[in-house]
Amino acid sequence: MKIFKNRHSLIKEISKKKDISFVPTMGSIHRGHLSLIDKAKKESSNILVSIYVNPKQFSSIADFKKYPRNLIKDIKLLKKKKIRYLYLPNKKDIFSLKVKIPIYLDKFSQKLCGRFRPGHFKGVVDVVNRFLEIIKPKSIYLGIKDFQQLILIKSHIKKNKIKTEVVSCPVIRERTGIALSSRNIRLNKNQLKIAEEIYKFLKLNKKKIFIKNLNNKKLDIFNKIKKFGVKKIDYLECLNISTLKKPQHINEKFNLFIAYYIDKVRLIDNL
Ligand code: AMP
Repeated sequence: MKIFKNRHSLIKEISKKKDISFVPTMGSIHRGHLSLIDKAKKESSNILVSIYVNPKQFSSIADFKKYPRNLIKDIKLLKKKKIRYLYLPNKKDIFSLKVKIPIYLDKFSQKLCGRFRPGHFKGVVDVVNRFLEIIKPKSIYLGIKDFQQLILIKSHIKKNKIKTEVVSCPVIRERTGIALSSRNIRLNKNQLKIAEEIYKFLKLNKKKIFIKNLNNKKLDIFNKIKKFGVKKIDYLECLNISTLKKPQHINEKFNLFIAYYIDKVRLIDNL
């Protein structure tokens, strides 16, 4: 595995390669990330993984500092996966790039997490836009776990006619149902149990939650979830995953979207 910390040497190495599959991450690699890599491997042997904790997508410096970092373990895991390229930029390497393509932020950015994390998606699309300009990958692999991020990156790529295919990858879960996330490291045993109970509650009550949502009786559900030991719920919403609108009929294909806090750890999921 070749490791690059500098975009110029990375560009020199890969500029002639036309089949780079790109997997962007913020590190603390887990089975969710590895599933993206496995999918990418089926398409190309030229896999490029990036690890960069992007300060521009955090609302507070404290949250940014607390984000789990595990570089030595990550490198070991990626070597084991026989990844060809690992890009580990620092802030200067990424943000000194003079970008040619403007950021396009679809209005969907104002919903869900966008209501609670001002500037977050602008920060995400900004950094991904930079990565795309440096790497010029054939395809980019993104998880449905971060559904809103996936949709916004897709729309940015489409709007700017960027020649990179977006490949959506399913949510990988623990046996308990909890979606794998780097932030889970910050949860103790009891807190993991709370996350498990919430997942099971949402899964079992998807239809009931749809009806409560439709009838503006969301508070009943919020109160139930809080009883599991949740400190704060940012949102719990139903969205038709094709139209991105609130479903009006139970037969519509919709997902539940949630963001909540267990102590100071913010978790998101959709199912
Ligand atoms: P992150 O390191 O959290 O920024 O995630 C990097 C990529 O991995 C994103 O495209 C995420 O959507 C994806 N990802 C994170 N967790 C999971 C998961 N549990 N299952 C599938 N993909 C995931």
